[in-house]
Amino acid sequence: MHAHGYAAQSADSPLAPFHFERRDPGPGDVAIDILFCGVCHSDLHTARGEWGGTRFPCVPGHEIVGRVTAVGAEVTKFKVGDAVGVGCMVDSCRRCEPCNSGLEQYCENGFTGTYNGPEQGTGANTYGGYSDRITVREEFVLRVPEGMDLAAAAPLLCAGITTYSPLRHWRVGPGQKVGVVGLGGLGHMGLKLARAMGAEVTLFTTSPGKEADARRLGASRVVISRDPEQMAAVAGEFDFILNTVAAPLNLDPYIQALKTDGAMVLVGAPSEPHQSPGVFNLIMRRRTIAGSLIGGIPETQEMLDFCAEHGIVSDIETIAMADINQAYDRMLKSDVKYRFVIDMQTLKDELGH
Ligand code: NAP
Ligand code: ZN
Ligand code: ZN
Repeated sequence: MHAHGYAAQSADSPLAPFHFERRDPGPGDVAIDILFCGVCHSDLHTARGEWGGTRFPCVPGHEIVGRVTAVGAEVTKFKVGDAVGVGCMVDSCRRCEPCNSGLEQYCENGFTGTYNGPEQGTGANTYGGYSDRITVREEFVLRVPEGMDLAAAAPLLCAGITTYSPLRHWRVGPGQKVGVVGLGGLGHMGLKLARAMGAEVTLFTTSPGKEADARRLGASRVVISRDPEQMAAVAGEFDFILNTVAAPLNLDPYIQALKTDGAMVLVGAPSEPHQSPGVFNLIMRRRTIAGSLIGGIPETQEMLDFCAEHGIVSDIETIAMADINQAYDRMLKSDVKYRFVIDMQTLKDELGH
């Protein structure tokens, strides 16, 4: 099948129109007409080669929502017309222990990213959701709950699951104090989800102008992280901190904000390392620093259903496909409220169909 999208041809070239082929649906495949695709900071890191290992041309996009246009003969869960989602993975080895436990993101043989591959077996590159259509194995397709706004659901497929999974794994719930660091795409989902799980939530931000939004999104308190006095005032308070920042940080003030046995989970993935944290802050109160990668397929469906039940979607600004390079520039200035979503009809209009 002929597909159209936007690709970066190299780390320093802007995204531009790109034509390529998608496979026709095989027996276990679902063909999807892409309606919306969220813009994750990981797309930018990858398109600009900031993590190394980017394979060009790179068609980013792993917050995909669309409608099923065809299914293979063996597909049982989806039918033509269904509203579906695709997140960060389109395949994995499907036989290792993590894969068998629904933790495909930790596949011991390497999962296949929705973009940047590598495809199982062939090692080929994969092309993501900044495009008009995609073919995905049934096991990696999610059901978008009935009635959910399709554009605002798209960011749940990465920002939603990346924040939901650690909140669940570390058993965040009522009676706990949770901090979320950074109010961007991930951070705003972290506020909503932690609040919906019953925790008392604080936002740590570098942007004083985001305070009112933070409260609306579920924070009961806002700490300006660049103010050492405000940071010192919350020392020893938090059970759990979810750190979404996409730039190198001094982690020590956040570690000091944890209680005894508190944990800070890093989900932000800056291209330069954080400064090494002070060991004594960890030792003295048995505090933990951990990391977490997106979430598995069963948990992603659980997250979508949880969001439907709690009336949660992403706060989005819809953009045209052609505006993607400007959107990246705004994202770097923390000027996103709180996720850009590409309306793929604008790409189809550009192509004249
Ligand atoms: P984003 O929308 O750009 O949000 C990042 C936020 O971090 C900004 O809005 C800003 O919030 C804060 N920030 C930015 N620069 C900062 C600085 N120099 N110092 C302190 N705070 C700063 O990005 P995103 O899409 O949420 O992604 C965040 C990070 O998570 C990226 O590195 C991305 O690659 C990574 N990620 C990881 C996973 C995973 O599975 N672990 C999944 C998806 C994304 P304030 O204005 O509130 O300070
Ligand atoms: Zn992402
Ligand atoms: Zn595996």
